[in-house]
Amino acid sequence: MLTIKNLKKNYGKRAVIKDLNLEIKAGEIYGLLGANGAGKTTTINIICNLIEADSGTIEINNKKVSQGTKKYVGVAPQENLLYKNLSCQENLKFYGRIYGLDGKKCDRRIAETLAAVNLSDRAKTPVESLSGGMKRRINIAIALIHEPKLVILDEPTTGLDIETRYEIWQLIEDLKKQGTTILLTTHLLDEAQRLCDRIGIIKEGKIIAEGSLNELRKLIPAAEIVIIKTKETEQAISRGKELGFCHRYYGNDLAFWLPEKLELRETLELFANINLESISRKDVDLEHIYLELTKNGI
Ligand code: ATP
Repeated sequence: MLTIKNLKKNYGKRAVIKDLNLEIKAGEIYGLLGANGAGKTTTINIICNLIEADSGTIEINNKKVSQGTKKYVGVAPQENLLYKNLSCQENLKFYGRIYGLDGKKCDRRIAETLAAVNLSDRAKTPVESLSGGMKRRINIAIALIHEPKLVILDEPTTGLDIETRYEIWQLIEDLKKQGTTILLTTHLLDEAQRLCDRIGIIKEGKIIAEGSLNELRKLIPAAEIVIIKTKETEQAISRGKELGFCHRYYGNDLAFWLPEKLELRETLELFANINLESISRKDVDLEHIYLELTKNGI
């Protein structure tokens, strides 16, 4: 569906995209994760033909990115692109016209996209009087107006409360069910873990790891993570070393990587000589993988 090969982009002398390669398959949700400034938005802008790459190729549906491929892509940018004095319907009509929709077809798509984002009852409401979550949903509806094959959602839930996040997640899952291919950027690792079929981690303009969560899990030699709270941290760390376990701090949590899953009783026995306040076990998740690969947080 989308193939990016050897993409490079400099701003002045600064290389911001350095030989980036990725492939998104039809119908999947692909998560592009990376720290601020890693190059996500620049990549999106090149896919949307808003800025030009210095070299490399991008193909959407086997066609090189050009003015002609714009119709295949719908983008909901980080900042909502809404005319606040216009109603939801009028905003959708404005963007529909940009994509050449008019008459009955445009009216039909407005009704369909409003239904898709669950805002049919707000068709005539001026955007300025919508809640933050509703504005974000209309921003996504605009990305869908011309029935694009690829929808790009740039941080769709940033700044939203948890209930509104659930609504947006549901909307994204519904889009996938309808066969839409989605490229999602997010700083929320639980969001990526929940929604994405595959994830690419971008660092300084390069994809440094890519795969499904299970494939990415193989990059860390741990079957589970044991988190220990104790005042005897030095003793705990040296006990972990004796056992051959790597240790890490996740925030203030002291954690050990266990090469195989153990019963709680067995884990407690391993640390029996340490005065423990608490011990808990976790599966390796995207947060651990991401921190390990980027080493500087998200
Ligand atoms: P964020 O998560 O903060 O949105 P990002 O991964 O989307 O970050 P980009 O916006 O693609 O990162 O920026 C990549 C780098 O390119 C940054 O260092 C940014 O300062 C730089 N950059 C982006 N646009 C321009 C521009 N028009 N001129 C010069 N430098 C730019």
